[in-house]
Amino acid sequence: MKGITVLGATGSIGVSTLDVLARHPHDYQVIALTANRQVQRLVEQCELHQPMYAVMADEKAADQLHSEFKSRGLEHITILTGVTGLEKVAALPEVDYVMAAIVGAAGLTPTLAAAKSGKRVLLANKEALVMSGALFMNEIKANNAELLPIDSEHNAIFQSMPYDYDGSMQQKGVKKILLTASGGPFRTTDLQQLDTVTPAQAVAHPNWSMGQKISVDSATMMNKGLEVIEARWLFNATPQQIEVVIHPQSVIHSMVQYVDGSVLAQLGNPDMRTPIAHALAWPQRIDSGVADLDMFAVARLDFEVADWQRFPCLRLAYEALERGGTATTVLNAANEIAVDAFLNETIGFLSIPTVIERTLELATIAEISSIEALLACDAEARNIAQALIKDIG
Ligand code: NAD
Ligand code: MG
Repeated sequence: MKGITVLGATGSIGVSTLDVLARHPHDYQVIALTANRQVQRLVEQCELHQPMYAVMADEKAADQLHSEFKSRGLEHITILTGVTGLEKVAALPEVDYVMAAIVGAAGLTPTLAAAKSGKRVLLANKEALVMSGALFMNEIKANNAELLPIDSEHNAIFQSMPYDYDGSMQQKGVKKILLTASGGPFRTTDLQQLDTVTPAQAVAHPNWSMGQKISVDSATMMNKGLEVIEARWLFNATPQQIEVVIHPQSVIHSMVQYVDGSVLAQLGNPDMRTPIAHALAWPQRIDSGVADLDMFAVARLDFEVADWQRFPCLRLAYEALERGGTATTVLNAANEIAVDAFLNETIGFLSIPTVIERTLELATIAEISSIEALLACDAEARNIAQALIKDIG
C-alpha cells in the first residue's frame, strides 16, 4: 500500500489521477488532496477518497471548506491552508508518492518539498522544473528522491530510453530525442487571422482535454518550448539533441533515436491516465482505464517540421535555454503573466510572444544560486511583464 498526496487534485491531471487510483484501492491510499479555490470539487473528492488531509491554498476558500466538512460529516479530515499547508502534505512521513499537478510557478515549492523529503515525485507541473532546472534536479539526487515524468512526451521518452539510462546519451548510444507536438488548434490557421483569435478558440485543443493555461500554451506552442527545457533537465540532453516534430494525430507521444538507426517510440490514445498509471506502478504495469489503441482507426501517422515563424514561442524557449541561468525562469514567469492577460482579454494572442521577448530583454539574467534568488527573479520578471501589458492594453 503506497500513500499518495495529489497536489492540484481538482485540475485536469488531478482528476485523471484520482480516476486511476480509484481502480486500485488496495494498492494506493490517498493521504492528502489539495486545491486552490474549488471547494465543491474538493469536497466531493474527499467524500470519495477519504484522505487524512485536505489543503485549500486560498484562505477564504479554506473557511468555506470548514463549513462544508461540518455539514457533511467530514470533520475527521484535517484542513490546512496556504503554501505551508501544501509543503507539509508533500513531505508527510506516511506519503510515498506525490503527484505534482499544480499549474505554474505556484507548484514549485510544494514540489521541491516532496523532492527534499525523498518521495517518488510524479511530475506534471513542468513549470516547476523549467524555472528551477539544476536546483530541482540536485534536490532529487541529494535526497534520493525518484522523479517520474507525467507529461505524456517525457513519459514516452522515459519509456523509450535504455532501461539503465543514467543521463549520458552518448555512452548509451542515444542520438536524439524526437519530441512530438500536435501543433495545437492553430497549426494551419491563416497567419493574418491569428491576431483576432479568442481565448475560447485557443483553448479548444484538437486532441487533448486540459486546463486553460496549458491549452493556451499548446496554441502558442510555448508548451512545446517548456517541454524542450523540461527534457533538457530530465534526460540531461543538450538543446541540439532535442528536436520538435509536429505529429497532428498525437498517437506517438515521442521517440528516441539511436546511433544504430533504431527509433523507439511509445504510442497510445491521447489520455493522460496512461502516463499517470505508468508512473504510479513503475517498473510494473497497471490498468489505467484507457481504451486499447485501434491502429486501423488511426490508419495514418503524419509528421511536419515545426514552423518558428508561426510559433515564435518555440524560438524564445530554445534561446532562453541556450542563454542558461535564470533566462528560463524569466521566460516562464513572463509567459504565465501574458497567458493570463490573454485569457482575461487584456492582450491579443500575438502579444503573448511580444511580452515574453521584451521581458527577456529587460529582466536581469543571472546564475541560479538559491531558491530565494530564483523567486526574486520570478517576481521581477512578473512585474516587468505586467508593466509591458499595461503599455499594450
Ligand atoms: P488545471 O488548471 O486543470 O489544474 C490546476 C490545479 O492546480 C487545480 O487543482 C488548482 O486548484 C491548482 N492550483 C492552481 N493555482 C494554484 C495555486 N496558486 N496554489 C495551489 N494550487 C493551485 O491544470 P492541469 O491541466 O491539470 O495542469 C496541471 C499541470 O500539469 C500543469 O503544470 C500542466 O502543464 C501539466 N500538464 C497537464 C497536462 C494535461 O493534460 N492537463 C498534460 C501534461 C502536463
Ligand atoms: Mg505534454
